[in-house]
Amino acid sequence: MTTIVMKFGGSSVADIKIMKNAVSKISAEINNNNKVIVVVSAMGNTTDNLVKKIKEVSTIYDATEYDAILSTGENISSSLMALLLQKEGINARSWQGWQIPINTTDNHSNARILNIGTKNLEEKFLAGMQVAIIAGFQGISTNNRVTTLGRGGSDTSAVALAAAIKAERCDIYTDVDGIYTTDPRITSNAKKLDKISYEEMLELASLGAKVLHTRSVELAMQYKVKLRVLNSFNEGTGTILCDEEDIMEKRVVSGITFSKNEAKLTLLSVKDKPGVAGIVFDCLSKANINVDMIIQNISDNNLTDVTFSCPTDQVDMARSSLENGKNKNILEYKKLDVDIEVSKISIVGIGMRSHSGIAQTMFKTLGDENINIKVISTSEIKISVLIERKYLELAVQVLHEAFELSKV
Ligand code: ADP
Ligand code: ASP
Ligand code: MG
Repeated sequence: MTTIVMKFGGSSVADIKIMKNAVSKISAEINNNNKVIVVVSAMGNTTDNLVKKIKEVSTIYDATEYDAILSTGENISSSLMALLLQKEGINARSWQGWQIPINTTDNHSNARILNIGTKNLEEKFLAGMQVAIIAGFQGISTNNRVTTLGRGGSDTSAVALAAAIKAERCDIYTDVDGIYTTDPRITSNAKKLDKISYEEMLELASLGAKVLHTRSVELAMQYKVKLRVLNSFNEGTGTILCDEEDIMEKRVVSGITFSKNEAKLTLLSVKDKPGVAGIVFDCLSKANINVDMIIQNISDNNLTDVTFSCPTDQVDMARSSLENGKNKNILEYKKLDVDIEVSKISIVGIGMRSHSGIAQTMFKTLGDENINIKVISTSEIKISVLIERKYLELAVQVLHEAFELSKV
């Protein structure tokens, strides 16, 4: 008997009626003689609503309580799924992260899985359990507190479990047919890809394509987990993640992705001396800010400006951590400028390694539409720019056209 992991996202478990779709897919795998580990997300918008409640209390919060609250959505969906499967005569039970246990770091709201104990699961499978339904997104820290793995983290729970249990494959069921050239909700010209390399998917995910959690792709790559993305509402073949060598025709650009809610923060007139950047980013890291793009201007009169980007919902915490540094005389700056109306758009492709002129095409395409580029960053297989948020959809559409992605 082989074990497979099936993960159902929020929209695939949004209500009891929708959950029955998942039940029939799970039953089919049981009938194929598989042992099944099901990982579920919270139902529909549950997690977003929990975040809203926390923010009604304060935008600056205790991350341990944040996690204790956020993890509850998956407790409900996993138990409901167990009840639905039991009703079909399937021997199923739910598991919360700590019961497995899924051990994580204590980096609350963005914890990393350290290890997964498989003994409890294996014993129950031996005793006749057919399906283990595991609450995604959550784990337990070394301090014995509930942690969460970052928004969208149930994908990571699924891949980590597949790696730990040496599952035959891990199928991620979501609300689109697979991985597309860009978010199909932004342009109907987006094309589904039959295959995508782990490397490209890693960039797409980390740059904003929420269809897979970044860490899940990293783990799949590291532990050679066979990963597929499928639609839970139909029967398509989805998208298979594979090694770069398994893609015959290397596309120059495979996908365009974006991160809508970014903020650009600039510290003006920071002393230009060794160690200052270290202090700035130490303040931010202590407040768990996910700093993304960074630029430092050329120094003038021994003063320099430091610009960085982070998600908009972390701006208040970033501001207070920098002000704290200033008040404690650890950090000196004249002013903090904050622009919360920016988005990041990125193009990704392994073919960029061997082709030139890609940046020029990207910048000219945006320029022709009068879209100003505020910050640029590049790596071997991606180019990202920060632009005004109001141009985001237009930018995705014109770049999709410019790189002829509707023809892949
Ligand atoms: P789930 O709740 O199943 O985890 P998510 O909302 O996290 O689903 O991810 C699926 C969504 O990702 C899709 O509905 C789609 O709008 C979005 N998405 C963004 N970029 C892409 C892409 N390149 N391919 C497919 N979907 C994408
Ligand atoms: N429920 C969590 C979230 O909304 C985890 C997940 O869906 O993967 O981020
Ligand atoms: Mg998701």
